[in-house]
Amino acid sequence: MRRELIQLPPETRPILTAVIHTEEEFDWGKPHDRHATGVEHMRHISRAQEIFDEHGIVPNYVVDYPIASQDAAIRPLKSFVDQGRALIGAHLHPWVSPPYVEEVNARNSYPCNLPRALESEKLRELTEQIAASFGARPLTYLAGRYGFGANTGAILEEQGYQVDISPAVPIDFSADGGPDYSAYTSHPYWFGESRRLLGLPGTGGYVGWLRAGGTPLYKAVTSPAMRRIGVGGMCARLRAVERIRLSPEDLPTIPDLLHAGAQRGDHDADRDQSCSRKARDGRGNRVAVIALVSGSAVALDQDLQPRQAKRRRHFVSALEYGECSEHRIALKQ
Ligand SMILES: [Zn+2]
Repeated sequence: MRRELIQLPPETRPILTAVIHTEEEFDWGKPHDRHATGVEHMRHISRAQEIFDEHGIVPNYVVDYPIASQDAAIRPLKSFVDQGRALIGAHLHPWVSPPYVEEVNARNSYPCNLPRALESEKLRELTEQIAASFGARPLTYLAGRYGFGANTGAILEEQGYQVDISPAVPIDFSADGGPDYSAYTSHPYWFGESRRLLGLPGTGGYVGWLRAGGTPLYKAVTSPAMRRIGVGGMCARLRAVERIRLSPEDLPTIPDLLHAGAQRGDHDADRDQSCSRKARDGRGNRVAVIALVSGSAVALDQDLQPRQAKRRRHFVSALEYGECSEHRIALKQ
């Protein structure tokens, strides 16, 4: 797929988009389960929404089929949307999205691994369910398990989507049968055959003084052989090269991204440092996408355990980092 990178002028204020993987409760440690469709946590989603409201952010809840088809999840989200406080996109978890014809296994959990007709049909049913529940067709797509593949772009064009936020930069899922995003940067891009779609990768990259080595170096130092002789651990201790993603779930690394200058005890220096790190990672990219998962987003409220309090702090620092705006409008200006 041809990607035409979008370079915004360096004086552009950073643009931050917040995306919530809005999905059923499940345990990633267990195999995918067609019957795991609980959405009870959505009764508390206003806790996360209030934080977005405080920061003037209109988050994009990308919802999957269990969310789009159950009242406990639809009711709160629809009220945010109707009040102009949130957007709704589509998130395809194929194992819980009809038609239920494929075998449930790890490979088929990436929508892009399904036959084209089935990938398309599952997205069509999800899109229609979202339109019926929320009163408008979604324009943004996030593939479940970041599984964007050879047919996905054309399917999105056919079904009227405008934005794809599937790439998880710079992760390579190929060992598990998924896509490889190690050659991507966090830059937005245009793609599409018959019309222009906006590609907006989830922000991620490498930091550290050997970051220029990128994925090849990262793979080398984290390989089992290098770990065995202690090179992996040494690189981590020396902060030589670390992979980071802009997500509160990425707890061990997001403090490094957002609080790199904290030892100076100066909030502004702190923020400058994180800006410059991000700028280096994206080579002047002005657009960042922060992603979180609905199940943990409800834990971002005031009443928190210490670990979660830390998570909220990092999350809020990320929100304060850039001017937050609705990405399609911001990029089209
Ligand atoms: Zn998901």
